[in-house]
Amino acid sequence: MQLKRLARALCVIALAVPGMVKPSPASAEVQIFACEPEWAALASEIGGDVAHVYSATHGRQDPHYIRARPSLIAQVRQADLLFCSGAGLEEGWLPVLLQRGARVTIQRDQPGHLMASEHVRMLNPPSLVDRSQGHVHAEGNPHVQLLPENIAFLATELARRLTVIDPDNAEMYRRQLSIFQERWKDATANWMERKSHLEGMPVVVRHEAWAYLFEWTGIKQVASIERLPGVPPTANHLQLVLELARNAGAVAILRAPYEPSEGMEWLSDKAGIPIVDLPFTVGGQEGVDDLFDLFEVTITLLEEVRDQY
Ligand SMILES: [Zn+2]
Repeated sequence: MQLKRLARALCVIALAVPGMVKPSPASAEVQIFACEPEWAALASEIGGDVAHVYSATHGRQDPHYIRARPSLIAQVRQADLLFCSGAGLEEGWLPVLLQRGARVTIQRDQPGHLMASEHVRMLNPPSLVDRSQGHVHAEGNPHVQLLPENIAFLATELARRLTVIDPDNAEMYRRQLSIFQERWKDATANWMERKSHLEGMPVVVRHEAWAYLFEWTGIKQVASIERLPGVPPTANHLQLVLELARNAGAVAILRAPYEPSEGMEWLSDKAGIPIVDLPFTVGGQEGVDDLFDLFEVTITLLEEVRDQY
């Protein structure tokens, strides 16, 4: 495979020139750079033993606001495949990484450039919202991971990309995909049954982080603490959120691991409803080690909320 030969040649050069990036463990055939832990988890499922998967962020970091630090640049330089949410989520850092010496094969329109949001049906599609108002999801809602069918679509697309990038292991990727899809189908059937009991449950959020989960489960978002995605609340807006929460009989405020409690505790106190921490991604809570855990724990926590009200 020509790419591999080139990569090996570059590794030799890298070893010879002080300060250049050292190669990753030689055992891995394909280097996958995931922007978020959910995509790293999916890459590990499909990539099997031959993929070396690196996640740029962990489950308790806010993926909207990451610094393009040198360690990330070093990792992206080695990548054969880039797997991110897209739709502007990584706008503040990914373009910098791609400019700082990432291979041509992971640049836009190449097989090694996989943006999850381009392979699913987007919610809140592009609008003319002015970005000066903050981080506003102007390209649609990029938090696409909390919908099981999105994961299934992306598993298939990822396997397809890997067979193009690394045809020598095509059979193995197809096998991994088939094993994953079979397990995912069974798990989804169980979640489908349980999610039907969550329909209509009114909740408050901080950020539009759960749109796909709500679309799937029918949970009703009655208010958002942020005035706009990425724009912190004012005192007036919080008062409005309190009224909306009371009027709709909201039962909880859902919080992602990286979200500040600013405004949430006040609201929780005034409205008399709990703040419920959900994992949001793989690694977002203790024991959420893969995508199956992510959905299982999320649904279980939401069932607990429902049972208490
Ligand atoms: Zn967002």
